[in-house]
Amino acid sequence: MIGGGNGLYTRFLAALALSVLAVLAVVAVVLHRQEVMRSEVLDLGKQSMHALAFDRLAERSEAAAVELAGGLVNPLYYFDLDEIGVLLRAALRQPDVAYAVVYDNDGAVIHDGSRDIRTYGQVMDDPMAFEVVTARAPHVQVSDAVLDVAVPLYIGEVRLGGLRMGYSLASVTDDERRAAASMGGRLEVIGQRHAGWIVALMAGLVLLAVGLGVLVQRALVRPVRQLADAAREIEAGNFIAELPDSQRRDEVGDLMRAFGRMRESIARHDRDMRRMAYTDSLTGLANRLAFREALDRRLMELHGAGRQLALLFADIDDFKRVNDTLGHDAGDEVLVQFANRIRETVDRLGGEGAVLARFGGDEFVILAESPYSGDGIRDEAGHLAETLVAELNRPIVVGGRQVFLGTSIGVTVFPDDAVSAAMLMKNGDIAMYQAKVAGKNCHRFYSRAMDQAVERRVRMEQDLRGAWERGELSLAYQPVYRLEDRRLAGAEALLRWQHPEQGAIAPSVFIDVAEQSGLIETLGPQVLRAACEDAMQWRRDFPGSDLFVSVNVSPRQLRSGDLAALVDQMLAQTGLPAEGLHIELTETAVIGDEVRVSSLLARLRDAGVKVWLDDFGTGFSGLSHLRRVPVDGVKIDRSFVADVLRDPDDLALTTAIIAMAHSLGITVVAEGVEKEGQYDVLRERGCDLAQGYWLGHPMTGHDFRGLLS
Ligand code: C2E
Ligand code: MG
Ligand code: MG
Repeated sequence: MIGGGNGLYTRFLAALALSVLAVLAVVAVVLHRQEVMRSEVLDLGKQSMHALAFDRLAERSEAAAVELAGGLVNPLYYFDLDEIGVLLRAALRQPDVAYAVVYDNDGAVIHDGSRDIRTYGQVMDDPMAFEVVTARAPHVQVSDAVLDVAVPLYIGEVRLGGLRMGYSLASVTDDERRAAASMGGRLEVIGQRHAGWIVALMAGLVLLAVGLGVLVQRALVRPVRQLADAAREIEAGNFIAELPDSQRRDEVGDLMRAFGRMRESIARHDRDMRRMAYTDSLTGLANRLAFREALDRRLMELHGAGRQLALLFADIDDFKRVNDTLGHDAGDEVLVQFANRIRETVDRLGGEGAVLARFGGDEFVILAESPYSGDGIRDEAGHLAETLVAELNRPIVVGGRQVFLGTSIGVTVFPDDAVSAAMLMKNGDIAMYQAKVAGKNCHRFYSRAMDQAVERRVRMEQDLRGAWERGELSLAYQPVYRLEDRRLAGAEALLRWQHPEQGAIAPSVFIDVAEQSGLIETLGPQVLRAACEDAMQWRRDFPGSDLFVSVNVSPRQLRSGDLAALVDQMLAQTGLPAEGLHIELTETAVIGDEVRVSSLLARLRDAGVKVWLDDFGTGFSGLSHLRRVPVDGVKIDRSFVADVLRDPDDLALTTAIIAMAHSLGITVVAEGVEKEGQYDVLRERGCDLAQGYWLGHPMTGHDFRGLLS
């Protein structure tokens, strides 16, 4: 964190420390000079004091010696030793006088002030003696211990001898020492005072430096460091990083504010980018990317927390129909309305922190988290899915038209089903698919068995490839009778698959696989050719029967390739007249692309091939649709037929379909007639044709030929 950002302050502190050191050095020099000066001043003082004291002593002693010399001239002239002795003793009593000696011209002692004059006659031989003896005027000499004053004694011009007085220097040096000591003491005090001042100044300086350091740290270094930290945070994508307060009115304050503004603009920019990258532009919901990130984050938080998550994959059933029939704008409108309904429901039931996203197309994904730990999530997610299915099943009004749509929802639970995001998404998809397989407009929980189901499907697709060539696929024929006279009118060709290991597989299962995988595009023409060949054979073998064969054509076949051309080709190749072939289309296929389908149907009918609408009544087209799509017949779905005897509504609807179809000149075929009563009712209501177990089960081509003969 610190380290790189430390340099400025460290350098500043180093400079500060250097300055303080320099000042300390100067102070040390000053102190040293002061010490030197003190000792010099002391020396000088001592010298001048010494000179002063000595001069005064010399003057005083000379004057005293000269005066005494005046008194000694006469006694010396008369050689009055007593008188001389009196005078000398008086002089010797004076303070500091060490000796007083009267001598003759040869330097021999005449008197030394003592009573017995033991030195009498001794010639003076001390180092100063020569100058003393030769002096012709008062003469002063100094040794370490004494000041020696020699005054020659004259009577007239005649030199009688001289007086020599010695003054002890002890008291003078004593005074000198005392004065020097007191001066030294004074100087010491002054020095100490100076030192005190300097120490105080130094302390002030250090305080100043510390203050400066703190100030710089506060005013400059800290904000700069905070800015650097904030910049690093921003770099890492955290835009709410704390910024130092920017109330300051100085340049740093300006910098902070500018930085804050910059951060806000970056954050805004980032938010916009994120919004764009993470939002579905049509519905305003989160998109796949955003969802994936949210899921990853949530999974990371939840790991080991013992909490559960539910993932709901919702897919609108047959949404393509809306796009195809009502146009893409209407499709978008439906998606927006669906998104709103889902959002409301999720807000209500999804719990806190639910995430809703559109995965593109008609797929919505919901992430719901249980607030409790434990098994509650399954119930909650089940309830949410159920509510969503019900909510989305309510009709939607688009472009003034009511549209009924269903939704299939797959639910998977973390951590029961999977722990990784990728696996959860895959499971959700599988469960959703299972909901579709289970009849759509419902929800399914993921189970491991589903994995196997998916695997089975993949294997089935592989097995189905080349099954026709291997002879595993064949056509069964279910007889279709005229109700009026119960005469055989034709047969519906139904594909059968005898799997080498699994035995017979229901068409509802493998046709779906063929449809989804695109295999139907090769299977379809093969079925068509075989059915035409068989029908042609019936006509050849049983002339006059004029049986038709009706062939089921799947929506995918209708959309890809040219069905009309294929039919023409098959008729031409097999020689079957056009009226011997009926094509059964499901409502879904027809409604898919009205304009294209209408022209296609027109071409088929022009050629003489009849087109029937299979499973009529189960789709959402309604009766009014029949006016717009040119078909020759409708096959009433067996679910209605099954209930005609029990449910008056179904009977009414069946009756209405028959009446309406007849008014349009359309043939009505009833499927799934299993009871005599059903047959009777249908005949009563004027239904044209019928098929069903009561009339005849689907049978092999061989059996059907048996039926014919
Ligand atoms: P579909 O076209 O509605 O065919 C009628 C289905 O009803 C057949 O089921 C038939 O066996 C069954 N059925 C007939 N009478 C009765 C009855 O009295 N009671 C009951 N409960 N069912 C009856 P199947 O053969 O299983 O075929 C199912 C669906 O598979 C067919 O429904 C059709 O849509 C599709 N299919 C069959 N063969 C082909 C084909 O060659 N091509 C295409 N594209 N689809 C096919
Ligand atoms: Mg059919
Ligand atoms: Mg049918």
